[in-house]
Amino acid sequence: MVNWEYSESVESQEIVNIKDKYQNFINGKFQQQNSKKYINTISPSTEEVLSKIVISNEKDVDNAVQSAQLGFEKWSNTSPHERSKHLFKLARLIQERSREFAVLESMDGGKPIKESRDFDLPQVAANFFYFAGWADKIDLSWGAKSLKPHGVVGQIIPWNFPLLMLAWKVAPALATGNTVVLKPAETTSLTALLFAELCEQAGLPDGVVNIITGDGTTGSLIVNHKDINKIAFTGSTQVGKLIQKSLAGRDVGLTLELGGKAANIVYEDAAIDQAVEGVVNGIFFNQGHVCCAGSRLLLQESIHDEFVAKLEKRMQTLRVGNPLDKNTDIGAINSKEQLNKIEGLVNEGVSDGGKIFQTECELPGNGFWFKPTLFTDVQPSYSIAREEIFGPVLTTLTFRTPQEAVEIANNTEYGLSAGVWTEKGSKILWTADRLQAGVVWANTFNKFDPSSPFGGYKESGFGREGGRQGLLSYLKAES
Ligand code: NAP
Ligand code: MG
Repeated sequence: MVNWEYSESVESQEIVNIKDKYQNFINGKFQQQNSKKYINTISPSTEEVLSKIVISNEKDVDNAVQSAQLGFEKWSNTSPHERSKHLFKLARLIQERSREFAVLESMDGGKPIKESRDFDLPQVAANFFYFAGWADKIDLSWGAKSLKPHGVVGQIIPWNFPLLMLAWKVAPALATGNTVVLKPAETTSLTALLFAELCEQAGLPDGVVNIITGDGTTGSLIVNHKDINKIAFTGSTQVGKLIQKSLAGRDVGLTLELGGKAANIVYEDAAIDQAVEGVVNGIFFNQGHVCCAGSRLLLQESIHDEFVAKLEKRMQTLRVGNPLDKNTDIGAINSKEQLNKIEGLVNEGVSDGGKIFQTECELPGNGFWFKPTLFTDVQPSYSIAREEIFGPVLTTLTFRTPQEAVEIANNTEYGLSAGVWTEKGSKILWTADRLQAGVVWANTFNKFDPSSPFGGYKESGFGREGGRQGLLSYLKAES
């Protein structure tokens, strides 16, 4: 276990019971896999090895898909009312064990405990409750056709919200009668494996949820498996494009939740102090490892200097450090690889001519860390203004008129989210109408609710998760 200096504000790790190594969860139990290849999963805040997980091979993927096929025969014939009861049970168990899940999420992924405890876990439970409620209320008639579950769904998720992305995918899939083969990201598999234990505890029928660990090759084996009926993927635009190509010409459903480079637009009439808070939350939440992060700050020219001064002052108060400390605002960067990517883009921003501001905080010795960073004097052509950095780095651009704000905001290949800050309701509506983004927040940022659909435009993907739309993406119309 990690030896951070003792402090009353540090959450105890004793609550979690991490095994030395993990097997895949297939057909209702943890099973010996075919692959003998294990990798370490570490805590990014200390680099300490927490456990070992298997890199599943073709035979393991095949076993999981077969198990999900058998599971589907039972699950699709289980009454919607029974399916609902199972999902409610899972939701309640998540609530009961939420402290354990939160600590494990922060240890394995590096996010601050106050976020895993007060954001991720309540959202995870809320998603299961929400879709449990839908399970026996879905109207399966669709004109002359009827709606049917796809069958076996392959679900591939990223490392930034490991358990929450699982919940976004597993809950609607099960509510609609599908069964799943889920692969968590290789750096953050532990909460998905703990969720597998919960499926056992909840008495979910065997084969309904199958969780196999692995890297990109495992993900690709799931995508290319001949008996997969739908793929739901959250991750990078680059991998999303590969998946879409692999599925071309096959009758396999697909939803893609990909990257983003959201504009957070602050008009001169905005309540400046609230906007500063919202901008800080928009980019520094979860170390900026957020697909919908407000990573491009668009400031109206007249308030630029005042806003930047207030923002820098506020950034100095952000506490970077031990993810298990309840006072920590910014935890560890998820992996060495991600840290290298952030450092590379930031160096490019400096050499392109951007003016960099970084807070004066001290960073811990071990682990992967990056100081909260703000760029001003940025041209829209710089890579820091175009590429997704996926770290605690905010890039500022300026505009003169609302038309110009919208033009700059839409000048990106992405279209996942956006923020608008103004005291005028009509300006919010005018701007939101013109923004090409799946979600537009007004005078707030990063607000989520299971009933509200989430998803992208352009290269941020297609399909929606959450709400009725999210549910429908797990059903197909058949005559
Ligand atoms: P990633 O590299 O695309 O990986 C996502 C998942 O896909 C991981 O489980 C990964 O496995 C797996 N994978 C990698 N290569 C694959 C392949 N060829 N075929 C099938 N699966 C493959 O993305 P990431 O770096 O983990 O996550 C960050 C990205 O996710 C960012 O771009 C972010 O914007 C996006 N994201 C989007 C949303 C959204 O809702 N739109 C939400 C969160 C994150 P391994 O990690 O084990 O290699
Ligand atoms: Mg880890």
